[in-house]
Amino acid sequence: MLQKYQFEGTDIDSLDLKALIVTRGVKVKDDVYTEFGQRFRINPNPLTCNCVILPDGTIAQLTDVALHLRYIKQAMSLESLKQMGTFFGGWKPLDLKMSESGEPVLSYNGEKITDVRFPPKSDFYNQKTSSGLPFVGNAVLQGTDCVAFQSLWPCELARAGYSCQFCYTGGISEQLAKKHKPEPPIPSARDAAEIVDYAVNKENIGDYLQITGGSTMNPQAECHIISELLREIDSVAGLRNLKGEVLIFTTPPSDPRMLDQIFHAGADRVACSLEVWDEKFAPIITPGKVKFTTRKRHFDALKYIAKEYGPNKACSTFVVGLESVDSFLQGAETLAQDGIVAMASLWIPFGRPVMGNAKAPGLDYYRKVKYGLAEIYEKYGIVPPGGAGFNVDIDKDIWRHRSELRNMVVAA
Ligand code: SF4
Repeated sequence: MLQKYQFEGTDIDSLDLKALIVTRGVKVKDDVYTEFGQRFRINPNPLTCNCVILPDGTIAQLTDVALHLRYIKQAMSLESLKQMGTFFGGWKPLDLKMSESGEPVLSYNGEKITDVRFPPKSDFYNQKTSSGLPFVGNAVLQGTDCVAFQSLWPCELARAGYSCQFCYTGGISEQLAKKHKPEPPIPSARDAAEIVDYAVNKENIGDYLQITGGSTMNPQAECHIISELLREIDSVAGLRNLKGEVLIFTTPPSDPRMLDQIFHAGADRVACSLEVWDEKFAPIITPGKVKFTTRKRHFDALKYIAKEYGPNKACSTFVVGLESVDSFLQGAETLAQDGIVAMASLWIPFGRPVMGNAKAPGLDYYRKVKYGLAEIYEKYGIVPPGGAGFNVDIDKDIWRHRSELRNMVVAA
């Protein structure tokens, strides 16, 4: 059952609260890090991808806005920073502090919302690979059961000046390229395999594996690189030791049959993400994808996967909050009819402004998303990837509560 809370005098549930936590960010008191960092996985380094766990188990990304803002300046153009400045005028994050009884408490405007928990302590971020590459900054733990590589190689679209407007790592690559600066070192296949081995076999905290790299302009996309990577991970960590699934995010190749090698190398699902459904906004928000890899290639790849490998094997992330709810849900339903999973990643407006806007929609928007997606998932038998849930994606949380959400709609 979804846990209920009070927020500014209204009833909200854990999915509403996740949307608030992720899209507004949180001001974290220093003593939260010092008191709980000894026993739990919470770290002041913004690269460690902290999360909170709500009382019903819902996981939400914990972005400490003060630390984050210091860090993001490198990813922003002057113009974006000015837009962010306008946004900060009317923006108020949630607060996380220690209660008198010694529990971490989430509040807003001085009113308690709920106690929260953190994942168990881990030594993951203190590790280095045998080549000396630190885990931190190259891989993250998401929630309680997922090890993820968020950007295993630089995005060529971003380096060419066509980064997606919402994409934080793309923004960094674009700025580095403009300043003629090199990208930081990237993990080799062996590095990545050792990181997975540690998470899966040493600490037992990686049931699910997510691999993402930047988009490439190669017609083969990254299929050959990912296949080699999966083979190396298999030889070092053993893909059979993962209790969950391997989810690969990749650029769609010019010939969708090239995706076969990724499945043959051990992927359970492959995502070729459209990010926005609205055709008017796509060229503005995702200029490189529209210009170079094209929406048609995305559709061809997704349909090919669904046809060859069955329902729920092809996925597309959508950054939820950028386009109208109706447009997003129309996209989700169109894809679902072919057995393709629309994943819903909550837009973090204090990451980068989009179309001059740095303000997330209100709760009504996210409520329509949750009811609409619950309906679509149920109607078409769609099952989003992941186990306990991811930090920023809300699709699996909605799926877990889909019957309850649909009953709420019927009762209303
Ligand atoms: S193509 Fe992918 S990595 Fe590149 S800017 Fe867009 S979302 Fe970011």
